[in-house]
Amino acid sequence: MVKDLLRGRRQEAGVRSQEEEGKYFSPVTSHQSPVTSHQSPVPSTQLPGAKTSMIPQHSITSDPSINISEISENACDKPEEACGVFGIYAPEQDVAKMAYFGLYALQHRGQESAGIATFNGHYVHQHKDMGLVSQVFNETILEELVGNIAVGHNRYSTTGSSRKVNAQPAVISTRLGHLALAHNGNLVNTIQLREELLQSNVHLLTTTDSEMIAYAIAEEVNAGADWLEGAIRALHRCQGAFSLVVGTPDGIMAARDPNGIRPLVIGTLDSDPVRYVLASETCGLDIIGAEYLRDVEPGELVWITEKGLTSHRWNQQPQRKLCIFEMIYFARPDSVMHHETLYSYRMRLGRRLAEESPIEADIVFGVPDSGIPAAIGFSQASGVAYGEGLIKNRYVGRTFIQPTQSMRETGIKMKLNPLKDVLYGKRVVIIDDSIVRGTTSRKLVKALREAGASEVHMRISSPPVTHPCFYGIDTDTQDQLIAAKMSVADIAKKLEVDTLAYLSWEGMLEATREDTNSFCSACFTGDYPVAIPEQVKRSKLMLEKATV
Ligand code: SF4
Repeated sequence: MVKDLLRGRRQEAGVRSQEEEGKYFSPVTSHQSPVTSHQSPVPSTQLPGAKTSMIPQHSITSDPSINISEISENACDKPEEACGVFGIYAPEQDVAKMAYFGLYALQHRGQESAGIATFNGHYVHQHKDMGLVSQVFNETILEELVGNIAVGHNRYSTTGSSRKVNAQPAVISTRLGHLALAHNGNLVNTIQLREELLQSNVHLLTTTDSEMIAYAIAEEVNAGADWLEGAIRALHRCQGAFSLVVGTPDGIMAARDPNGIRPLVIGTLDSDPVRYVLASETCGLDIIGAEYLRDVEPGELVWITEKGLTSHRWNQQPQRKLCIFEMIYFARPDSVMHHETLYSYRMRLGRRLAEESPIEADIVFGVPDSGIPAAIGFSQASGVAYGEGLIKNRYVGRTFIQPTQSMRETGIKMKLNPLKDVLYGKRVVIIDDSIVRGTTSRKLVKALREAGASEVHMRISSPPVTHPCFYGIDTDTQDQLIAAKMSVADIAKKLEVDTLAYLSWEGMLEATREDTNSFCSACFTGDYPVAIPEQVKRSKLMLEKATV
């Protein structure tokens, strides 16, 4: 009954049901020239006064009812990244293909869905679907995504569940034409922003905060603002973590929240002052030969048009609070942050770990791949020989096939297989970047003992994760975090290791060689740089629960 009441309220508020969404997002079976394309499948959700234009939509092949999260139970219990964003302004270049490769390099940031929108004058072409970048796009699709501007997105759901309708970029129309928005991060004032938009008769189609940001921009533009002014006004309505790329018919913009929690970089293509690339990480620039120019600063918006790049400080009280977990684990080791690759930083974490928590052992190795640089650093500082004790199956991705119960019990071996002859009779040190729930670590230790290791010592190159993240990383709720409930000694018992030690909080921050105040480390301390409203603390799927 409560559900019915909620549904009634939802329909009054103009929120569309799943069935209605299916109607609007039903497959289009052919795709002719973008200019001679079909009636726009984008639903009539425009704000009052908005113009309508055509958005060719490619066919849809996946089942939107499939929830990848539900079937990836065997996935490693690591925090999951929110998203990767990519943008390019490059007249006379194949922007769709560059966006494809940019997203390909950023695949580690989100594996649930991928999308690209291109602007060809006032026409927008978009394709998005569930799956990896290589599964979502092919040559034919990319050839149809024509234009001078592209916006791309890889998604892992942190607000809004894993459904095709929530895939990005979010493309909506305004009186000045369409905008396409890609977002990395999480807003913490989603409820308030949603209420404001619903009161303005905006018909939200998805359950993502990203769509709300897009509609906030559209609302300001439809009230008379130009793109730049409209975006800046909308950003003032957003609180939390957001690194955004927004395509328009006139140019592309990139913005970061006042704390710069999620990364976002600018590059140039062929050193051409009018060809710019935007990416979550520098690895998204490297893959297409773009040169790193600089970061988008916290509280900055850059606007790139045919006249070049202009910078706008939309927030007057920015501070640096980059997510330290980006540096420890999420971002690719070959990405550059603070003037060095993260590989170098992670090696220093390992050295510091060896200094803080030494142990006599025969071999040290990292949990592939993210534990390897720290294991090398640990070896260098401790003198314990570095080797490989675990081999990763590099071709394991997300699978729709459920393992059998007996396979599930072998657990970790689907991803990581111990090298028995290397481990037999040895005292081993295994280095991992973090422990979240501890379930994977326990299986791993068991597998090492079964392979013959005489002692298993675990070292973690970050402090205990005791608090959840609300800024775009899925670290589970607090009651699922093992270090929030147990002491290090009890965790060691639970994991059945001989010894366990974590890196200190000071060690983690000092190894950055930067101002230690310039990072968010709230999941280790509970000291959140942006206050978290009580209702937001409850669940990442709060929106679905409130509206289904
Ligand atoms: S809470 Fe943790 S994971 Fe989230 S932004 Fe801060 S450091 Fe990163």
